[in-house]
Amino acid sequence: MSASLTTVAYLGATILFILSLGGLSNPESSRRGNLYGIIGMTIAVLATVFGPRVAAAGIPWLIAAMVAGGAIGLYAARAVQMTQMPELVAIMHSLVGLAACLVGYASYIDTSIAFSGAEKAIHEIEIYIGILIGAVTFSGSVIAFGKLSGKIGGKPLLLPARHWLNLAGLLVVLWFGREFLHAPTVQAGMTPLIIMTVISLLFGIHMVMAIGGADMPVVVSMLNSYSGWAAAATGFMLSNDLLIVTGALVGSSGAILSYIMCRAMNRNFVSVIAGGFGTGGGTPAAAGAQPAGEVVAVSAVETAELLREAKNVIIVPGYGMAVAQAQHTVFEITKHLREKGVNVRFGIHPVAGRMPGHMNVLLAEAKVPYDIVMEMDEINADFPETDLAMVIGANDIVNPAAQEDPASPIAGMPVLEVWKAKTSIVMKRSMASGYAGVDNPLFYKENNRMLFGDAKKMLDEVLVALMA
Ligand code: NDP
Repeated sequence: MSASLTTVAYLGATILFILSLGGLSNPESSRRGNLYGIIGMTIAVLATVFGPRVAAAGIPWLIAAMVAGGAIGLYAARAVQMTQMPELVAIMHSLVGLAACLVGYASYIDTSIAFSGAEKAIHEIEIYIGILIGAVTFSGSVIAFGKLSGKIGGKPLLLPARHWLNLAGLLVVLWFGREFLHAPTVQAGMTPLIIMTVISLLFGIHMVMAIGGADMPVVVSMLNSYSGWAAAATGFMLSNDLLIVTGALVGSSGAILSYIMCRAMNRNFVSVIAGGFGTGGGTPAAAGAQPAGEVVAVSAVETAELLREAKNVIIVPGYGMAVAQAQHTVFEITKHLREKGVNVRFGIHPVAGRMPGHMNVLLAEAKVPYDIVMEMDEINADFPETDLAMVIGANDIVNPAAQEDPASPIAGMPVLEVWKAKTSIVMKRSMASGYAGVDNPLFYKENNRMLFGDAKKMLDEVLVALMA
């Protein structure tokens, strides 16, 4: 394939990627968006493999690597449970970071193209920054993987003088950057490069370890953004325009998502990244007044009774619905109630579940119509006119302490105000707290009922009782 044909193919792929992002912004057009992405990526890969920069002898190696990588990806995608999706995404981000590091070292060692003067300096700056972003993305994503899968606790690790540690790390990285640029030989440049890589890896670990449970959504989207910038940096190192554009698209859309997540949680981006936000400057995350009082448990039959009497119902799904895989039963119940003329809608909190859009994906999978799935801002004012708010495996996103208790670690985070409905029912297995580790006074409210048990099992029973 000639160089100009490759450029045209790259341009086509870029347009398809932009269309893909546009499509993915809405559940109804997301399948089309995905398709554009697949076509764009196929064109990009073919144009690269058969492009002018790959020698014929290298093609079998590339194909072998793609088959191996593709097989691992296919296996992972098939084997992963829906509840493990956030961890899978985190570990995928770590691979982009790792790739950026490896490409950085490879381009530094590779002396087949002799750069000189300003070109050499630019190339080395690209390598230094590329490895820096890659290393932070890699180690940060590995820790995020640990936190999301529960292998590492959700509590923020707040080292004394952590901001000073970060600042010192930055200064050391800048100092060694200078050393690296002035190194006379590749061997001499290796030491500052390795020191910077180690500091960047430690920074990534420190940054994510310092972030409290409830702020994890911002970290997930931020690492998504970093992975984009790491890919863009790889593009610079390899002088591949398409990789630069694609990386920048992922990087900037991830940054926008981080901003949206911060706004949804009423958090300041810088404070989240600095870590330990909402912990009152160092007190453990479980601080705040302990809720007290009686909880009223109900049975599935009583829940069905309340549903039957209701004219307006709002369902609030959370992480527990994903764990229980209850979305299909939720759909059956919704269908049944709608056929009886009940106005059923869904209230989706932006950080419900464990990844952006988690609930939307599950509800779409269960074929719940999009027009009854509302965002928090669209539906929050309607709770006072609602007969029954049904909370399915959600906890932090319906916690009134966010509004009522300034000492709470989630104080200030907007929540779905389910307690304003005539009656609310919370379905969960126990009185355990949610991801943020905060007690929930909702459970003790006078108009709240608890339906204890696995969400799928209990909803199956509710459906049977409704049909009876
Ligand atoms: P939470 O984690 O606050 O609560 C989920 C509740 O579901 C738990 O209290 C649990 O209670 C219950 N549950 C678990 N399994 C089941 C089951 N099988 N059946 C019934 N209930 C079950 O989730 P929310 O969705 O309310 O809030 C999301 C939290 O996750 C927020 O703190 C958010 O910041 C954080 N987060 C969100 C991310 C995102 O991008 N969306 C990413 C990372 C973190 P019990 O054990 O008693 O059953």
